[in-house]
Amino acid sequence: MKPTPTQKLYWADAYRRTFTAQVLKCESGERPGVVLNRTLFYPTGGGQPHDTGRLGSARVIDVRQIDDVIVHYLDREPEPTPELCGTIDWPRRWDHMQQHSGQHLLSAAFVELLDRPTIGFHLGEETVTIDLPGPMPSQEEVDRVLDFVQAVIAEDRPVVSYQVDAEEAAALPLRKAPTVSDLVRVVEIEDLDWSACGGTHVRSTGAIGSLVITRLERRGSNVRVHFLCGGRSHADHRRRLQVTQALCDLLTTGVSELPASVAKLQEERSTLQRTLRQARSELLALQAVQMLSSATTVGGVRIVRHILDGDDPQALNQLLRALTDGGRCVALLAWSGERPRWLVGRSADVAVDLTALQQVVRSVDGIKGGGRGDLLQGGAADLAAIETLLSRLEEQVRRLLAENPA
Ligand SMILES: [Zn+2]
Repeated sequence: MKPTPTQKLYWADAYRRTFTAQVLKCESGERPGVVLNRTLFYPTGGGQPHDTGRLGSARVIDVRQIDDVIVHYLDREPEPTPELCGTIDWPRRWDHMQQHSGQHLLSAAFVELLDRPTIGFHLGEETVTIDLPGPMPSQEEVDRVLDFVQAVIAEDRPVVSYQVDAEEAAALPLRKAPTVSDLVRVVEIEDLDWSACGGTHVRSTGAIGSLVITRLERRGSNVRVHFLCGGRSHADHRRRLQVTQALCDLLTTGVSELPASVAKLQEERSTLQRTLRQARSELLALQAVQMLSSATTVGGVRIVRHILDGDDPQALNQLLRALTDGGRCVALLAWSGERPRWLVGRSADVAVDLTALQQVVRSVDGIKGGGRGDLLQGGAADLAAIETLLSRLEEQVRRLLAENPA
């Protein structure tokens, strides 16, 4: 026998919050659930998420429609009772009604003004989107759509729903074609939009409150329009006001001047970075001169061993060049920053093959690295490992230089 279809009380009155119903079926086990003869709980579908709330003492955590039957999934075993009293989570439902009704209006506006149909709708926890096929609309087009939407909200046009048969449905200028073949539920924004829809909607467009488009995003050959209505739109507006005010305070400027102020800051920053790089490289060159003049020598080759503070491998390479470019030098260098690095290099005129030092590198715990005849480099677990490494390497370099005088 075919199960009795659940009567959809939310279709008769989307503003009703409590109801009583007969229990037709209980399911226990891993996913306890209950089927009622009628319900106010909207099941996930048509882009709108399900309602939550209470049925007796249980919380309704999910609602699904399977064929014509609506199943309420609960957080515990259902009570063994012939009748249950239910209450839907109203703030959640009201939010869904505002977003969903706003979607009808926004989709209608895109058709009315730009002949752009909606091919997808998503109502998420944070974002609400519709998808339009075709190119990115211009700012002027978006502004026209928003002005139109705001005017219809201000007119407070009735939003009504009714059921028609297939023949009557065919006579209506339906924006969204029905997915059912017998009775079609039509949601109408008076004299503007007729959609086949099973969702919950506000009574009139004024209740949408306001609608803002927050982002336009290209998705393949479509455009995804992110928008917010009612409470979400107000919350978004407040958040943006707080953020812009904080930025204005930080930059001591007005809202309209913010982009120019930030652009100026970015420009100043890159100028400073250039200056800093220049100053640092001059400083490194001076340090190199100092290090070379106080270095000890073996067979006329200066040996420099130095650990710098900081965490800038680029500067490490710069210092190496400054030390070795002038000839007759072996440099053992390291950075002691958060991710310590080390390197050993030599001037072109020092006839020592640094790969002969690989064994020393491998002998120190916490040291990684390798290289070629004139350069070895790598990372280290900590500063202690680097100190051990550099000291052993220096010892070995001195031995090699003594054995093979340049
Ligand atoms: Zn709808």
